[in-house]
Amino acid sequence: MIGVYIHVPFCRTRCPYCDFNRVRIDGAPPDAFVDALVREIDAFDACREAETVFMGGGTPSLLTPGQLERILEAVRRRFDPKAPEMTLEANPDDVTGALADAWRAAGVNRVSLGVQSFDDTALRYLGRRHDAETARRACGIVAGRFANWSMDLINGAHPASSWPATLSECASFAAPHVSCYGLTYEPGTPFGERAHEAIDDETALACYRRSRELLTGYERYEVSNFAMPGFQCRHNLYYWRNLEYAGFGPGAFSFIDGVRSMNETALEAYLARPGRKTEQLRLSEREIRVETLIQHFRLSEGLSRDAYADRFGRDLDTDFGPGLRALTQRGLLEERDGRFVPTESGFELNNEIGLALVD
Ligand code: SF4
Repeated sequence: MIGVYIHVPFCRTRCPYCDFNRVRIDGAPPDAFVDALVREIDAFDACREAETVFMGGGTPSLLTPGQLERILEAVRRRFDPKAPEMTLEANPDDVTGALADAWRAAGVNRVSLGVQSFDDTALRYLGRRHDAETARRACGIVAGRFANWSMDLINGAHPASSWPATLSECASFAAPHVSCYGLTYEPGTPFGERAHEAIDDETALACYRRSRELLTGYERYEVSNFAMPGFQCRHNLYYWRNLEYAGFGPGAFSFIDGVRSMNETALEAYLARPGRKTEQLRLSEREIRVETLIQHFRLSEGLSRDAYADRFGRDLDTDFGPGLRALTQRGLLEERDGRFVPTESGFELNNEIGLALVD
C-alpha cells in the first residue's frame, strides 16, 4: 500500500508567505496540465495499491469537475484503491454547494479547507483573498456534505491576539480534524523581507499552548495536528510514519524502495516531460532508520520497540539506545510500555529531538 499525492500548482493569487510550488492563474488549470498528469499516473511502473489519495497545491479546488474526474479515474485505473481516503484541498472562496457536490460525486470523501483565520485583519495580513465571512460560509457548506473534513489555521499572523477567538470559532464548527501551523517568514518570499515582524518565541509558545487548551475533544496526534477519534489524516500518517508514497505533478516528491525523488518543478518543463525526476536520492538503511525515528517522534503514538523490530529486523536499543536515553533524560521523550513517546516539552521543542538523532 502507498499514499498517492497529486500536486495542482495553480493559485489565483500568490499569498506573500507561501513558498510552495505554484503558478498564478485566472480560472481553471489548463487541460494540458491534466493531460500531463494523467500521462504521468498511467506510466507509473511500481505495483502498489493506494490507501490514500491527497490532492494538494496550489489550489485543487480550481479544477473543474470534469478535470477532477479525469484525474481520479487515472488514479483508480493505476492504483486500484479499495477504500481510500480521498482528500481535496480547497480555498474558501472557491467553495459552492454545487462544486462540493461535484467533489463528492467524483469520489472525494475528505476536504481540507484553508481557512487560516476567522479574523479579517489577520487574513489581510496574510494576503488571503477570502474574508472571515467567506470562510464561515465555506465551512458550513463543507460540514453539511462531508463527515470527514479538516480546517487549516495559521497562528502568528498579526494581530496575534486574534488567535484564541479563531480557535474558539474553529471549535464551534466541530471540524473533525484541525491543522494549526505557525506562520513562517521564508527567504525568497515577500514575507522573507519582513522577518522582523515575526512574533517572539514566548508569544509563539503561548499560541501553541492555546491551541491545545481551546481545541477540547481533540487529540493532538501530531505536533501541529488535532483530530477527533477516528479522524487522523491517514495520508499524512504515511509521511510521519516514513512509509512509501508516490507524488505526481510539478515538484511532487516520492519515496519508494528507499529512493526519494522529486519531479520537474517548472510547469513548462513538467508539461513537456511529466514524471521526469530532477532529483533522486537513494537513502542508506541508517538514514531511513533515523528518519523513521524523527518522524515517529512527531506523533503522540511515538515508536515502540516491537514496531521497530518488525520493520527493520533490528533492536531499537542496539541502534539508538544512547540517543534515546539522552532524550529521555532531557525530558523530551518518555518510555511507556516499550514505547518511546514525546513529552509535552518534546512536542513544544520537537526540532531538538530531530537534531539530537541526526548528530
Ligand atoms: S493559496 Fe495556498 S498554495 Fe496558493 S499561494 Fe496561497 S498559501 Fe500558497
